[in-house]
Amino acid sequence: MLILHCPYCGVDAEESELHAGGEAHIKRFGPGSDDDQFHDYLFMRENPKGVHFERWQHSNGCGKWFHAARCTATLEVFGTYPAQTTEPPKDIRDAITAKRPGWTWREFS
Ligand SMILES: [Zn+2]
Repeated sequence: MLILHCPYCGVDAEESELHAGGEAHIKRFGPGSDDDQFHDYLFMRENPKGVHFERWQHSNGCGKWFHAARCTATLEVFGTYPAQTTEPPKDIRDAITAKRPGWTWREFS
């Protein structure tokens, strides 16, 4: 079972207490963007076997949204952090690099 630490209320929440919100750190395009950029924003998502950044809501707890870095293959969680960040914190990126040498992440907006 997936267990994620809510960075707001400090609870280690089981998957049944959470609501998945899809990929985190999606680059948004505003007015003036072309159709391809808007298409990618609406429909294109990463689906890796490995390290992934996701949005989660502590729906049966404090109700707040947060981000989680985890491995989709092993369910290993590298860390969680507030949703108001535009990129993963350095300590989480370092933890991923320590466990997955050579891993790289895409450029975050
Ligand atoms: Zn919470």
